[in-house]
Amino acid sequence: MFAQVLSATPFGIEARLVEVQCDVSPGLPGFTVVGLPEKEVSEARERVRSAIRNLGLEFPQLRITANLAPADLRKEGAGFDLALAVTILLATGQLPPDRVHHTLFLGELALDGSLRGVRGTLAMALAAKDAGTSQAVVAESSAPEAALVEGLTVYSAAHLGDVVSFLRKEKDIPPCPRRLPEEEAPDWIDLALVRGQEHARRALEIAAAGGHHVLMVGPPGAGKSLLAQCLPGILPPLTPEEALEASKIHSVAGLLPPNRPLLHRRPFRSPHHTISYVGMVGGGHGIPSPGEITLAHLGVLFLDELPEFDRKVLEALRQPLEERRITVVRAGISVTFPASFTLIGAMNPCPCGHLGDPLRPCRCRPHEIVAYRKKLSGPFLDRIDLFVEVPRLTREELLGEGTGEPSERVRARVVAARELQRQRWKRPKTNAELGPREVRQFCPLGPQAKDLLARAVDRFALTARGYVRTLKVARTIADLDGSETIQAQHVAEALQYRAFPLDQV
Ligand SMILES: [Zn+2]
Repeated sequence: MFAQVLSATPFGIEARLVEVQCDVSPGLPGFTVVGLPEKEVSEARERVRSAIRNLGLEFPQLRITANLAPADLRKEGAGFDLALAVTILLATGQLPPDRVHHTLFLGELALDGSLRGVRGTLAMALAAKDAGTSQAVVAESSAPEAALVEGLTVYSAAHLGDVVSFLRKEKDIPPCPRRLPEEEAPDWIDLALVRGQEHARRALEIAAAGGHHVLMVGPPGAGKSLLAQCLPGILPPLTPEEALEASKIHSVAGLLPPNRPLLHRRPFRSPHHTISYVGMVGGGHGIPSPGEITLAHLGVLFLDELPEFDRKVLEALRQPLEERRITVVRAGISVTFPASFTLIGAMNPCPCGHLGDPLRPCRCRPHEIVAYRKKLSGPFLDRIDLFVEVPRLTREELLGEGTGEPSERVRARVVAARELQRQRWKRPKTNAELGPREVRQFCPLGPQAKDLLARAVDRFALTARGYVRTLKVARTIADLDGSETIQAQHVAEALQYRAFPLDQV
């Protein structure tokens, strides 16, 4: 007898649907699985066989052929176990067929028949819904994630036995409720806690308003990482679509907590400088999995001690910093991951960290300072819009009350500036993403602003790229000011963030 049910496999951060088919016929007993990588077949067969037997059901002594279609699609993981077990039980008449239509089955079986969740469930549930599937049977730990998909009825099961009783209509499983996140205390640091550092605070506001990448330079202990951790709190809240997209990525990476299936805050990723190329960019064995730059999608990527990162890792950021996505090719499989994050880099001004510090002398030789800075290539630095000096706090600032403006008020200005951009582009797009042609069209300069910029081209020896980046930052500053035309003061402020700090020291 023949039977088939629907399952799926993650592919990049998306998913592909897979028909799990089973044919049971008389002949030499055996269990063949077609369409799975060789090494996964024997393990899957063992798990399915044991789970069925341990349930007291019959594993037929017949010729069983299972096919995972399309056969040439690269599949991974043990998520087909449940679908395989169900088709075998259907094909041998141990289950009635009426509850399996338009149903997605996902789950890995343990030898005793208990069900384990699989990564990428959210993407697979979304793909199934898009293809017209109305219900899903998944492991308990994956159920809250699948239930986020509107219009999909999700049944959660802890054991193959539960699925069998459900399909035999001996037992009803209540559908898993769609749980949206509750309001919780913010997990980002409030700008009100940052003392002094007016210049850096303003740079963060501009970065948040226009989606600009930032490099902070300052001695150890000046508060660079504290400032970076404030950025998520002044970015606009995630829209429902963005929340789903970010959750899908974290689900594929297996990082979604089951009790909180929907990410409702912008991600903040801060990988250590020893991170590998694959860890940063994505890749790995089989179908490439997302790296830190994709986990930071729609949020913040904070790289502390920037020059300590492997040169190859930093150079790999050039494409995503510009195009906001990355293509990973691995063993003949090409996957494009989204990577639209705001980069905040932080570094010391010199190897010892005290160049320009009024309190402690710098002990570095000039060639050591040059070598340290050369670790960041010109093309990499060219993709950074805002260079910010973060000096050591003065005694007065350290001992003072610290009357910083709270994040909530800064965020309100950021949201207003982003709204101006959205109206201008007729879609969510930040000033940082403008191409050179759009810059010419949408960054009209007042007469004085034009003069100032012309003089700056000579004084700062601005490259063509540097010129465009200054204009984009000036566009954002004007947007924060609610001004359609870019005025001289907007250009003047943008130029303050152009030079590498302490270059003149
Ligand atoms: Zn030094």
